[in-house]
Amino acid sequence: MRNILVVEDSPLVLKILEHLFRQEHGLQPLFCASLGEAEVLLETSAELLFAAIVDLNLPDAPNGEIVDLVMRYNLPCIVLSGSYNEQRRDELLLKGVVDYVLKESQYSYEFAFRLIHRLESNCNVKILVAEDSDATRHFIRRVLTPHLYQIIEATDGNEALRILQERPDIDLFLVDHSMPGLSGFELVKLLRQKLKRNELIILGLSADNKGSLSATFIKHGADDFLRKPFCPEELNCRVMSTLERRDLVRALKQSAQFDSLTNLYNRRAFYEQGIQLFRQAQRGGQDISVAMLDLDLFKSINDEFGHASGDAALVSFSRSLLAAFPDALLGRLGGEEFALVSKQDAATLHAALDRLRDTCAHLKYSVGAPPLSFSAGVYYGAPDDLESLLHQADMRLYRAKREGRGRTISE
Ligand code: GH3
Ligand code: MG
Ligand code: MG
Ligand code: MG
Repeated sequence: MRNILVVEDSPLVLKILEHLFRQEHGLQPLFCASLGEAEVLLETSAELLFAAIVDLNLPDAPNGEIVDLVMRYNLPCIVLSGSYNEQRRDELLLKGVVDYVLKESQYSYEFAFRLIHRLESNCNVKILVAEDSDATRHFIRRVLTPHLYQIIEATDGNEALRILQERPDIDLFLVDHSMPGLSGFELVKLLRQKLKRNELIILGLSADNKGSLSATFIKHGADDFLRKPFCPEELNCRVMSTLERRDLVRALKQSAQFDSLTNLYNRRAFYEQGIQLFRQAQRGGQDISVAMLDLDLFKSINDEFGHASGDAALVSFSRSLLAAFPDALLGRLGGEEFALVSKQDAATLHAALDRLRDTCAHLKYSVGAPPLSFSAGVYYGAPDDLESLLHQADMRLYRAKREGRGRTISE
């Protein structure tokens, strides 16, 4: 649970914020109606707070004095304001507030909540800033710090490359073009040979006013480009939008590869990964085993206990399968049908499947529902092609069903 300080005196705005906070399970508001109240609360409990949403015009502080108070406690500060004033906005952004949100519509308030959620995820985002100008590097740090990113600095191209090689956890690389050692452009070309866009975001920077430089940067794999000098908001918007784009691509990739119910590989990803494993085994001259598994009389669980119980059975079974075969490639091929590729020989795999069968018989997946049982077919041999080995395993699975279910056939 994150505690959010809200300093606001308008009953109408408070009502809207209360309503929005009720829909946010992870956020707990602490309301103050004046600067005086906020002073007392901050003095006693600042360390329990995650961020603040503040009104610029309070009865005892009509000129935004609340911002200075909140910033003294190093709390990320989101400003709510009834009117737009460009000069005031620039001053506040330079002071280091997270953003300046106009109290115009429901959308503005929702935007303030989106900012808080972004702050939560930014805590895990690591940004490497490679820039030889001390002034620019410090400016970038000052602009990004209120957004709670973890910032690492490099003063030349070679140092940046060394840090990136040592720290694969860096999310975003903000790189100046002209630096001692490797130039920004050379770094982009080098890094993109290994790292895809969803593994490292690259933002180019340059004071050069040739339009072609930004295009060249982007063509060679940078995600975006900023011309110096830039304003704080522009930097923040570009960092934020490239991060959001990266997260979207990751989510898409996840949903294209994994079955959403069981979190196992789906059919397509299972085949893609399986073919890789086969090629490896072929090169190493190793045999490989495949198994096809199918839950027994699963339709009757759905029919008698409902679809939700059927789903719970699939989830419990998948967890047990994963625990029993942590090193194998596992997939849900469809419905209640699963497959695995393993380096274990047929006898070892057969024995492990029998132990899994015992575990399944004791799984409590839904009140009153029958014990889970499955049949399996195993095939072990030289890897010629995945499809035909799976077909052999499937024939054995079919035999296991015909011979009474609840068994594994491996020869
Ligand atoms: P057998 O022992 O011969 O395999 O019998 P069975 O009942 O397990 O096989 P059948 O192919 O007749 O039925 C499979 C059922 O699985 C039918 C289908 O509605 C159900 N099913 C498929 N996908 C899902 C799912 O995602 N959730 C649930 N709850 N049921 C599913
Ligand atoms: Mg430079
Ligand atoms: Mg079945
Ligand atoms: Mg089936």
